[in-house]
Amino acid sequence: MKHKLLIVGAAGRMGKRLLALAANSESFKISGAVDIEEHQDLGKDSGLLAGCEATEVSLTSGYPSGADVTVDFSQPGAVDLTTDYCIKNKCPLVMGTTGLSEDQKQEIENASKIIPVVYATNMSVGMNVLFNLVGNVAGMLGDDYDVEIIEQHHRLKKDAPSGTALTLAEHICKATNQKFPDCLVHGRQGKDALREKGTIGMHAVRAGDITGVHSIAFTTLGEMVELKHTAHSRDTFARGALRAAGWIIGKKSGLYSMADVLGIK
Ligand code: NAD
Repeated sequence: MKHKLLIVGAAGRMGKRLLALAANSESFKISGAVDIEEHQDLGKDSGLLAGCEATEVSLTSGYPSGADVTVDFSQPGAVDLTTDYCIKNKCPLVMGTTGLSEDQKQEIENASKIIPVVYATNMSVGMNVLFNLVGNVAGMLGDDYDVEIIEQHHRLKKDAPSGTALTLAEHICKATNQKFPDCLVHGRQGKDALREKGTIGMHAVRAGDITGVHSIAFTTLGEMVELKHTAHSRDTFARGALRAAGWIIGKKSGLYSMADVLGIK
């Protein structure tokens, strides 16, 4: 039997790929496609919107009841309504939206006391392996290696630095006892911009249609070690999100990561 899937942010870049991959999957059936009230495609068939066969589920601004699992790739403003819906309907939640405030993160944590939630700033398998690895590399290299994180995304991305770049920094800080986010230096400019020891440089490139590139450079006198992840298409995130959606159904309440989903802890 297919699981009923509700997608929030359904008319967006990620939402459409989720709709298309779910429509072609053995495991899911679209039961709701939610976007903002002002969206020009409201009322249209969500399948046709995603370039596949009609699903007979239209794009709505209200959250239709009856979903087995909800996946949210929208904007931070949706967190309130999405968590409310999931709590009221006892519906597991996969939250992929980034750029959340501390209050919004707290709302997700509160919701996870009642329902199961997977929250991940990057749902690709490769990046989650890198999350697992990056702290070990930083720890082994030691504090004589300057760490700089450079992320690149398309020109329409709203938040900077990316949620993924922040998560990478968080893993490094945890492994090296640095204080996150206090040790971050966002870009450099001016006549007094000398690198300070113990800081992590964060650089956000916004250009064209780049799906997502993250590199972490560890540099000392005489050498550089570079770890790099390149996402070739949004499908890598959408597939990871659907994997998380299948995994979380039937789990007990709690806040889970993609590492839990993938079993790479
Ligand atoms: P997008 O701007 O193309 O799409 C967002 C969609 O959400 C739009 O259709 C917009 O109208 C809708 N939306 C905005 N506010 C809403 C609300 N309050 N309620 C319902 N819908 C709302 O953006 P995108 O590229 O699809 O990315 C969406 C989010 O997912 C971003 O936060 C992005 O950073 C994040 N993202 C996460 C991952 C991951 O693996 N976790 C990967 C890619 C993107």
